[in-house]
Amino acid sequence: MRVGCPKEIKNHEYRVGLTPGAVREYVAHGHSVLIETNAGAGIGADDAAYVAAGAKIAATAKEVFDNSDMIVKVKEPQPSEWVQLREGQILYTYLHLAPDPEQTKGLIASGVTAVAYETVTDERGGLPLLAPMSEVAGRLSIQAGAFSLQKANGGRGILLGGVPGVTPAKVAVIGGGVVGLHAAKMAVGLGADVTILDRSIPRLRQLDDIFNGRVHTRFSTIDALEQEVFAADLVIGAVLIPGAAAPKLVTKKMLGGMKKGAVIVDVAIDQGGCFETSHATTHSDPTYEVDGIIHYCVANMPGAVPITSAHALNNATLAHGLALADHGLEAIRKDKHLQNGLNVHKGKITNKPVADSLGYEM
Ligand code: NAD
Repeated sequence: MRVGCPKEIKNHEYRVGLTPGAVREYVAHGHSVLIETNAGAGIGADDAAYVAAGAKIAATAKEVFDNSDMIVKVKEPQPSEWVQLREGQILYTYLHLAPDPEQTKGLIASGVTAVAYETVTDERGGLPLLAPMSEVAGRLSIQAGAFSLQKANGGRGILLGGVPGVTPAKVAVIGGGVVGLHAAKMAVGLGADVTILDRSIPRLRQLDDIFNGRVHTRFSTIDALEQEVFAADLVIGAVLIPGAAAPKLVTKKMLGGMKKGAVIVDVAIDQGGCFETSHATTHSDPTYEVDGIIHYCVANMPGAVPITSAHALNNATLAHGLALADHGLEAIRKDKHLQNGLNVHKGKITNKPVADSLGYEM
């Protein structure tokens, strides 16, 4: 198959759909790979690295779209990209269609076969192509929180780990899934006093086992949440109710009970956020203050560390990507998990939650 990878054009997006390492794998499977010039610049991979891996370099995105049977990307296609897609072509990328009716219309009109990373499933009921970005965002949330806690950045002026003779900062992690686990790992590593709240008792048991006494776990009731949020220097919002908007667990009123200069990092902002006072921010202006509490609400946190994120993403997308390149539509017919990833095919929505949330018939 002819596999193509254009340079990402979304604002502040530095990741790339195919790393040189991934290109070698496609080439080893007998596919030809066309990469837009400079597509890997954001991760420090120049055109020569791609040529060494076996790719050909295209001067423009148009050349890639026109000459590829499968397009591999990171972010959802932008308006100038929808119009270059066509029937018979496979698009393999994050789509996040539910909140995006315009893109949905664009993909339907193109006739393309679009597989969305975020709805591909695995045997354990997980979302394996979403998980690596949650790992990145979870780990990054503590770096962002620690930086925002510094006095000059508006925070309380407390070091997460304290020092000998001075108690560490308190970190409350709301939601102990993938983001929560990785946030807790980083916070524990820095020496903070960490509490994870979750509604799932089996998950709390697992976390207790993983951390072996290094974190406190609490069942997430209104009472428990209030106590932990009021005591915390740093609160990480990491809840997810699949397919739904994040529940507003921390109200504006509750901010009044928090320590002045405490920091909230709302990782769940891409699902609307779990703090009532959250609104999405960007890497160029990541924080704002409400009632003395610093809010960090960047919706594409992994974009800040494209080298780590692009490699983690390619690790996760490679196997299904190779199956699509090797077998085309047959790969989707044969594999129910890849089928769950199919969102649009020949002008029709093919994923039920996406169709339901946008009011389309299936
Ligand atoms: P996950 O499904 O692995 O974990 C979510 C956890 O929240 C589960 O353990 C669940 O039991 C728990 N939960 C649900 N309701 C709760 C409640 N009322 N109180 C406490 N816990 C509750 O999900 P994840 O992969 O960790 O993702 C978490 C959020 O982070 C999602 O909204 C995801 O989209 C988002 N995310 C954001 C970015 C970003 O850049 N901002 C990047 C990756 C992921």
